[in-house]
Amino acid sequence: MRQIDCCDTADHLLTLAEAINAALPTIPTLTETDAVPLFEAYGRVLATDVVAGLDAPPGDNSAMDGFALHRADLSSTVPTRLPVTGQALAGHPYRGYVPRGGAVRITTGALIPEGPDAVIMQEQCRIDPDETWIDIEPHHAARLKPGENIRRRGEDVKAGTLLLPKGRRLRPQDVALAAGQGMATLAVIRRPRIAIASTGDELYEPGVALPSGAIYESNRYTLIGLLRRLGCAVTDLGILRDDREVILSALREAAATHDVLLTSGGVSVGTADWVKEVIAELGRIQFWRLAVKPGKPVTFGRIGDCLVLGLPGNPVSVMVAFLMFARPLLFKLMGMEPIMPVRWLVTADFTFRRKPGRREWLRAQLRLDPERGHRAHLYPTNSSGALSSLCWADGLVELPEDCAGVLPGDVVDYLPFSELGVD
Ligand code: AMP
Ligand code: MG
Repeated sequence: MRQIDCCDTADHLLTLAEAINAALPTIPTLTETDAVPLFEAYGRVLATDVVAGLDAPPGDNSAMDGFALHRADLSSTVPTRLPVTGQALAGHPYRGYVPRGGAVRITTGALIPEGPDAVIMQEQCRIDPDETWIDIEPHHAARLKPGENIRRRGEDVKAGTLLLPKGRRLRPQDVALAAGQGMATLAVIRRPRIAIASTGDELYEPGVALPSGAIYESNRYTLIGLLRRLGCAVTDLGILRDDREVILSALREAAATHDVLLTSGGVSVGTADWVKEVIAELGRIQFWRLAVKPGKPVTFGRIGDCLVLGLPGNPVSVMVAFLMFARPLLFKLMGMEPIMPVRWLVTADFTFRRKPGRREWLRAQLRLDPERGHRAHLYPTNSSGALSSLCWADGLVELPEDCAGVLPGDVVDYLPFSELGVD
């Protein structure tokens, strides 16, 4: 059996930041790309910068339904009557020049005909029933500015400008921006291939009868959901028994065909905790155990080119360790722009005693107190086995390593689940 490289001394566990900084340089960024139709591009990561090929809008057009006219024809002392000499509809431009003294009926999005320098809203005109003329009152005329209600060519996007940077995880509005440029496909980074497995003799699949001492497996349901939301291609290796040979052959096989192997359970110090040993045997452990709570036994290593993340088994630990540790590493693999979740500063509505040393996350709900602002409330137990607490919570209070406890009224960092991609 090979040696575990480092970092497991009683007096020093890696902090989360140290662990991420140590892991990141060892993580490649995927380079293969897929060209995907726009409707399949949501949530994918752009492989190249997207540069505008066109001005948007492509021509000066009307922002209102109304009449295109020459401002200089309007009187600001008496009503002005103008003949309506034609119409410009969206998709059906008016051909020809509109001379001084004339007005053209225009709809939103229609090209501004040559000649007019403003559009007056139809609500500000008295329109003859046959639409052969319009009258404009002086107070409306006085307020009509040059270029009013005209959207200029290129005012949204100028050809040649960077629209979307490489590494952008595409949101609906990003895909729409590409569509607005006439792009039918986008080059995106291929999905990372991630294999996941849960380990434990006590674990059974939902849907079967439970023997005594057994529980239903739930961690894969958390992890697969989190990974799918990130756009990963997930292979489910199912539940692995606490058996060295079973775990060894499953990990060896999966490592050969996946970018990442994510396990839960079996990384602690129990007699049936084989995962660490098997990783060390097949590859290399870069570090084990972090100064975090929950999630301390996190293991990071590789088998061949496959990154291996051994997450703890407790249902809260697995989700927190994924969000805080695995997620930023996957971002790098996926070629994503670095994203720092935004922490909100909120007021604690609780007392929490602890020893400094580890970064800790507490399951919390924010409640808005009309007089005292957002207050964070804690779930009554802090057990890392209490899966229901994660369903109750809408985010996590984060206590830094040196925090010696929290009293009501203290300002604390709060991470809403939405900032962690869970909403
Ligand atoms: P372990 O890290 O394997 O020692 O597991 C720690 C605790 O988490 C034990 O109580 C396990 O029964 C529980 N556990 C481990 N894996 C899972 C899982 N996949 N689903 C639900 N509970 C689990
Ligand atoms: Mg176990």
